[in-house]
Amino acid sequence: MRYISTRGGIEPIAFKDAVMMGLAPDGGLLLPQSYPHISREQLEAWRTLSYPELAYQILSRFVGDIPAADLQGLIDRSYATFSHPDVTPLVKQDGVYIMELFHGVTLAFKDVALQFLGNLFEYILAERNESLNIIGATSGDTGSAAIHGVRGKKGITIFILHPHGKTSAVQALQMTTVTDANVHNIAIRGTFDDCQDMVKALFGDLEFKEKYSLGAVNSINWARVLAQVVYYFYAWLRVTDQTDDSVHFSVPTGNFGDIFAGYVAKRMGLPIGKLLLATNENNILTRFVTTGDYSLGDVVQTVSPSMDIQIASNFERYLFHLYAENSDKVRAAFVEMKEQGRISFTEAEMRQVQADLCSVSVDQSATLETIRSFYAETGYLLDPHTAVGVKAALELLPADSARICLATAHPAKFSETMEQALGAPAPVPESVQALQGKPTRCDVLDADLNAVREYIIAQLG
Ligand SMILES: *Cc1c(COP(=O)(O)O)cnc(C)c1O
Repeated sequence: MRYISTRGGIEPIAFKDAVMMGLAPDGGLLLPQSYPHISREQLEAWRTLSYPELAYQILSRFVGDIPAADLQGLIDRSYATFSHPDVTPLVKQDGVYIMELFHGVTLAFKDVALQFLGNLFEYILAERNESLNIIGATSGDTGSAAIHGVRGKKGITIFILHPHGKTSAVQALQMTTVTDANVHNIAIRGTFDDCQDMVKALFGDLEFKEKYSLGAVNSINWARVLAQVVYYFYAWLRVTDQTDDSVHFSVPTGNFGDIFAGYVAKRMGLPIGKLLLATNENNILTRFVTTGDYSLGDVVQTVSPSMDIQIASNFERYLFHLYAENSDKVRAAFVEMKEQGRISFTEAEMRQVQADLCSVSVDQSATLETIRSFYAETGYLLDPHTAVGVKAALELLPADSARICLATAHPAKFSETMEQALGAPAPVPESVQALQGKPTRCDVLDADLNAVREYIIAQLG
């Protein structure tokens, strides 16, 4: 399998090169030249596979340049860190299936991809005798999952900037209690946007980037999307028998990575009915799907902070397919976006969009009310992101078919909001309790680009 850029500016490259490249030099995102087709017969043959076995079947069709035993080893090690034997188990509550994606070390679905990516980076770097310095900004979930994905890994050093005092308490502990020598937590006296702006500026400094082999772990990396394709198959195999085909997915969406993985699964032939894109007040993607209005708004802070995003980076991958793989059109769309703050779509394009996706936006009060009412009816706790998806599913998906809601975080990760919704603290899992009182390592810096650059240079010696 070879990979191309959504903006058409590179010759096709192999999987490992696509992983190391992250973003294409022409500014585009990488995608496979085609998707492997999984027949119904093949699907049936996968019913008894464990999660890692299924992951191997799917991933191996996209890789091609890693020997089978090595790839299976990378997968096995990545999912052995999950605390549930099914990795992403499904439970049925109040007529919907909840797929629990939060049994990884940092209790959010990002572990599913970042455990694998950490192992993959280490493997490729060792083979090439290279090293990589990862720099990233986080509002909480990505940073902690990335840190846990690469802690102690050879050839990798990671610097994660988070806004000082502005993540949830559990998120902060998950990051700062990692004291491995290759992990550097930087708490910035400022906002998440300050962190992100500084990381962008560091990557924009090409001399610095080159000299210090900077790399990123944000959700534009193809390997992250790919790892997430697996659980759509896993869920489908668990909830269907041989006759019932109609399975719908509800996906709480921020950067469009998770739902794009579902779209890939559908293109591979997985019989998915509707893919429901659920947003909070940051609803540019809902406006796009329902009315064709793709225009930027301001980022609003909500109780589901990992979805507080206006520019969803993976949206470009979807656009490439919507435009029938025409990279000239993708480039033109981003020119329009830059010049006019919006992208416009034809009627035919909107028909395609509405065949691929449906969408609804769920505001804060509805999110809190869903946490409350779902708990009252079932005794099951939905984290605020999952609650957005569940509310959307109850509203939009047909009740007489299988509705699978992706549970993207464990409620304990957002205990402040759970308390706001329920009027009482949510139970704290043992793994979180164990973090209290552990030694921490974190340096606090001003939101000053030079200070951050000097800090990184000093740490790298
Ligand atoms: C990252 C995240 C999301 C959004 O996922 P995308 O792939 O960015 O759309 C939703 N919920 C939680 C808890 C997250 O951490």
